[in-house]
Amino acid sequence: MNKQRKDSRSRGIEWTDWTWNPTGGCFHGCTWKMPDGSITQCYAKTVAEGLAWNAYRDGFEHHYWREHVLQEPLKLKPPSKIFVGSMADLFGHWVPEEQIRRVLDVMTAAHWHTFQTLSKHPNRIPEFNPFPPNVWVGVSLPAGHLMSPHGAARALTIYLKHMAAIQASIRFMSIEPLWFDAGHVLAEWADIHGSLPFEWVIVGAATNGRSVYQPEPAWVEKMLDVMDRFQIPVFFKGNLKWDTWREEFPALAPVWLIELHHSVMC
Ligand code: SF4
Repeated sequence: MNKQRKDSRSRGIEWTDWTWNPTGGCFHGCTWKMPDGSITQCYAKTVAEGLAWNAYRDGFEHHYWREHVLQEPLKLKPPSKIFVGSMADLFGHWVPEEQIRRVLDVMTAAHWHTFQTLSKHPNRIPEFNPFPPNVWVGVSLPAGHLMSPHGAARALTIYLKHMAAIQASIRFMSIEPLWFDAGHVLAEWADIHGSLPFEWVIVGAATNGRSVYQPEPAWVEKMLDVMDRFQIPVFFKGNLKWDTWREEFPALAPVWLIELHHSVMC
């Protein structure tokens, strides 16, 4: 597992304490077209093909199963937030069900931690309902290979439908980068359904190497407007420029519920 630094020189992934990758690699091939026309690719792919090439010798578009790291959260005693699959999509269509269940078993056994998963394949997630109460289940804003904003808006509506079927104590949406007017789509969903199918949101800017591309201010305003309407906590990534800073987290599931689930399952 990798500890995420919180000092001023390097903040790592700000919304978690550790990353843990019992699976690795991803086939989604996300790329984004930047406002200046340049194309940027997924950060994890850049890391896998650069700094971490030794652990990704078959490339990033390859499935890696790392049984030898499976027990690591059980050895970490201080209660921590652990992002599962920072270099992968745990619920990707290529990941064998048995491996996902083994990862979930460890999350259940390490009940003192809070695990955070993130996927761009939300249609598969409800197959694993109900999730242990110490697992926060996240879905990323749609992005494929140079997907258009119009296509992403349509995909987001489908993602929301799948998120509504997830049974987890906390469902969250990672909107990093905020690359189209996603708040508008969320507002339309909320108007029809009377609520949103998640309890936490992360919002960030787009990056390409050292270049940072801020979202349109109107997109951020719309997003905050919808989140505040439903009292959904908002966490800004450090790369977002905004006047009123927000680093909010959802409330943890009560300890008694987590311990009850652990005693029933283990
Ligand atoms: S889903 Fe995540 S890890 Fe996979 S290519 Fe897209 S951004 Fe990268």
